[in-house]
Amino acid sequence: MYLRLMGLNKRYNNITAVDDLYLEINKGELLSILGPSGCGKTTTLRMVGGFIPADSGKVILEGQDMTLIPPNLRPTATVFQSYALFPHMNVIQNVCYGLKFKNLKKREMISRGEQMLEMVGLRHCRNKPVNQLSGGEQQRVALARAMVMNPKVLLLDEPLSNLDAKLRQKMRKEIRDIQKELGITALYVTHDQEEALSISDRIAVMNNGKIEQVGTPRNVYNSPANRFVAEFIGRINFLPGKGQQVLAVRPEQINLSKASGSIAGTIVQKQFAGAYTTYFIEVGNCIVEVDVPSMKDQDWGPGDVVYLSY
Ligand code: ATP
Repeated sequence: MYLRLMGLNKRYNNITAVDDLYLEINKGELLSILGPSGCGKTTTLRMVGGFIPADSGKVILEGQDMTLIPPNLRPTATVFQSYALFPHMNVIQNVCYGLKFKNLKKREMISRGEQMLEMVGLRHCRNKPVNQLSGGEQQRVALARAMVMNPKVLLLDEPLSNLDAKLRQKMRKEIRDIQKELGITALYVTHDQEEALSISDRIAVMNNGKIEQVGTPRNVYNSPANRFVAEFIGRINFLPGKGQQVLAVRPEQINLSKASGSIAGTIVQKQFAGAYTTYFIEVGNCIVEVDVPSMKDQDWGPGDVVYLSY
């Protein structure tokens, strides 16, 4: 295993931010840590980067214990949520900054910086002051600045959260393409389940300082290990089953019809969301959410009785 987090713990006064956390990351893999605000994602990432000392536990990279190595000497590089660019430097100076400590010739430094700018599509901004760049461009500079160091592990802390929805989707794909092309091992922190599902090789779902489940996006979506994971990733209905059983059904797994069926319900509300429409249907004393692809939507309305099947 390439990177191993072994029993990491971090407490702040009486808060346990990270609680005996174990996680293994393969070489070349992009693994997301996904969880709600305050669950300990950033603290975990910072312990891997060395910015926060662990109370106990170890960070092992390629068999070497890194736990006591200071951040500037770790073979990791971090892309921060706020980008943390140097405001008084231009683009190429920002990208090459870390290389100054690597004993390279100036020409070699610049050439590596330019290669990275090419990679993120910003070669033409080489000499611009960073405060004249858009949010998306600043994000790309931050990515280039981290990757130019050729890190063994790239750490990304909610890197897209300051961008608008459209740009976030675009950058998501760009980051994934670059990560794959260079074969970088990446640990990616996000609270956005759609982002984690779309960008990751595997997802570690975190809650209250602990990992609840680790698996491929399909695996955690289709076979959630417990109720927390089922509710946190995607939307899900919990319906009373036989006896003590609870049925967990995704909104897109239910079909609606007006012909007869076993489970009848009454539409109480509907929400159009573009590609699909969500119907809220009262069944007994539950409200069941059902997504109907807009192409198939029959445009029923509140008060209509429908039958559910799955
Ligand atoms: P978010 O998505 O909101 O950034 P997170 O999952 O990254 O959240 P952390 O930032 O790791 O969560 O915080 C985990 C817990 O530790 C939270 O309860 C937080 O309030 C607490 N915490 C984090 N940093 C400190 C600190 N420096 N001092 C005290 N408590 C802290």
